[in-house]
Amino acid sequence: ILNGKTAVVTGSTSGIGLACARTFAGAGANVVINGMGAPGDIEKERAAIERDFTVRAIYSPADMTKPSEIAELIALGEETFGSVDILVNNAGIQHVSPIEEFPAEKWDAIIAINLSASFHAIRAAVPGMKTRGWGRIVNTASAHSVIASPFKSAYVAAKHGIAGLTKTVALELARSKITCNCISPGYVWTPLVEKQIPNTMAARRMRRDEVINDVLLAAQPTKEFVTVEQVASLALFLCSDDAAQITGANLSMDGGWTVA
Ligand code: NAD
Repeated sequence: ILNGKTAVVTGSTSGIGLACARTFAGAGANVVINGMGAPGDIEKERAAIERDFTVRAIYSPADMTKPSEIAELIALGEETFGSVDILVNNAGIQHVSPIEEFPAEKWDAIIAINLSASFHAIRAAVPGMKTRGWGRIVNTASAHSVIASPFKSAYVAAKHGIAGLTKTVALELARSKITCNCISPGYVWTPLVEKQIPNTMAARRMRRDEVINDVLLAAQPTKEFVTVEQVASLALFLCSDDAAQITGANLSMDGGWTVA
């Protein structure tokens, strides 16, 4: 369904972003992947996309804390493939700490990567989408875009911000055949979740199994992690023509976490 389209997915060297890039490639899109990691590993993932799906995949090392590099990321997609039709703002980091000990530089980095980067990327991609009269913007928010948890002040603030940005952009682009939505997963089993376990163990003085069962999945009524493939599949649906009238939505995929 995405033949001839180009998708830029930020933070796609691992986790949800990589699953989105592979899913879009599977649907026929050329993809621009982005994110941190060892060059050899990234090249392996890039080559695997081209091999597995017979599309083109290129890599941009743009750092989502740097507005000029974000503009270059969009420009690279447009120059290489002629358009950026789909933008998935997905790069994200986490830091878990009580507010009074929360390092100011961590706050700044989380707001930059998890919130401001989406603004910069949307700002750069929208002119081309408007010119071509078609576009899809999908932002990876989080259950934390609608609900809070202790010790995640920057993350919760940034994700609430993404939900607001999504609504605003959707209204501005409503007549331009460009939709803007966010997906709000609960706990997805990725390196990001795995990495926050030690900090949560320290902050809450808990064992690893207690953090997994009583903190992470405590909030998720299904008691199961979301998978990256499930998130990617919803992102793909949002990029279909059947989803043309879904805009400004914040779609939960959280095993019932935010139901109550
Ligand atoms: P992940 O750590 O596997 O992937 C994060 C990606 O962002 C990686 O590719 C990483 O290299 C990239 N990244 C980090 N800093 C960057 C920077 N400065 N510039 C460019 N890229 C950068 O984590 P994930 O779980 O796949 O997270 C993806 C998104 O999903 C994030 O926005 C996260 O907040 C959100 N999310 C995750 C969960 C979860 O449970 N894993 C739940 C809800 C929302």
